Amino acid sequence: MGIPTKDYGRQHRALWSELAGEIERCLFGDDPVLGAAVEAFERELADYHGVAHAVGVNCGTDAIVMALRGLGVRDGDEVVTSAHTFSGVVSAIVQAGGVPRLVEPERETMVVAREALQAACTPRTRALLPVHLYGQPIDLVGLRDWCTARGLVLIEDCAQAHGARRRGRSLGSFGHAAATSFHPSKNLGAFGDGGAVLTDDANLAAALRIRRHLGKAGKYEMVAIGPNSKLDTLQAVLLRVKLRHLDEWVERRAALAERYRRGLEGVGDLVLPLPVREAGARHAWHLYVVRSARRDALREFLAERGIKTGMHYPIAAHEQPALRDRCLGGPFPLAAELARTVVSLPLSQELTEAEIDVVIDATRRFFATAP
Ligand SMILES: *Cc1c(COP(=O)(O)O)cnc(C)c1O
Repeated sequence: MGIPTKDYGRQHRALWSELAGEIERCLFGDDPVLGAAVEAFERELADYHGVAHAVGVNCGTDAIVMALRGLGVRDGDEVVTSAHTFSGVVSAIVQAGGVPRLVEPERETMVVAREALQAACTPRTRALLPVHLYGQPIDLVGLRDWCTARGLVLIEDCAQAHGARRRGRSLGSFGHAAATSFHPSKNLGAFGDGGAVLTDDANLAAALRIRRHLGKAGKYEMVAIGPNSKLDTLQAVLLRVKLRHLDEWVERRAALAERYRRGLEGVGDLVLPLPVREAGARHAWHLYVVRSARRDALREFLAERGIKTGMHYPIAAHEQPALRDRCLGGPFPLAAELARTVVSLPLSQELTEAEIDVVIDATRRFFATAP
């Protein structure tokens, strides 16, 4: 009972007639690792994004680390990203040997604008890592050329942006490479970990296919040092089926996000996420993140009524015990404020209008009570 933030059972029951035969074929076959299903998914994923290559890896974090290293980030190089993001992104920069330089996001969109990324570059900068957080599509047109001219690389983090577009193009096609994740919670999610690197760079794609497999060029010969980080074949089987539904899911999420906007506009001190109305642009609506100074009380009120909510994210990267001494830049008053005020309301394509209305009604009732 209640309203969940995620309901994997609902998603898989709805797709079962399509999934069952594919799963059976995979389990009765002899391709447990890589093989035809992974290759087919990589092809379909690259085509969907309008890029030449997709390389499946174990998770989105590995995709970031491998893209950074593969594009030449070396120990001590600075990598510029948002101060308001999933802390795993900042960890990935450190794992790749880089030094994170964080930048405050824009207040309205909660993502870093390209101008802020550019302004944060120093002589030690090697890469820019914009994160399309919550599915909000950052306008990156022209930034790749700007980077190339300066010997920098542009890597997009599209983990939350499956299905998002800007200027008529899929996110993930603007950088030298993009990293994405198929964590079950994402718009395009596996049932376990998964990730991919997208790129037009054939050399990078070839190198990553070797690196993800312990640096092996074939079955026996090891030509590089790399992790064992492959996209599981069974996950690729699920993802192939789900990719066919991604566009219809994103449309459904947008409709539910619009329902929230109409129901919650002007309520209490709530700040709602900005819809994207520009032609050729599409928000992926991975999360519906609102802000309130009364965040914790609101979450408790909703939880008492069976409504689950999330926080993305309550601890800013520069405040993480493992990261705070490793990040450059700051101070980050806005990132700190967002960490205290953000709350993610339930949003998924499986939810009904009636369920969204229950969340809206309860939220309105909360703000009708005195603080
Ligand atoms: C989920 C996520 C990742 C990577 O996640 P994995 O769990 O490692 O697949 C990277 N960046 C962002 C913004 C994410 O939301």
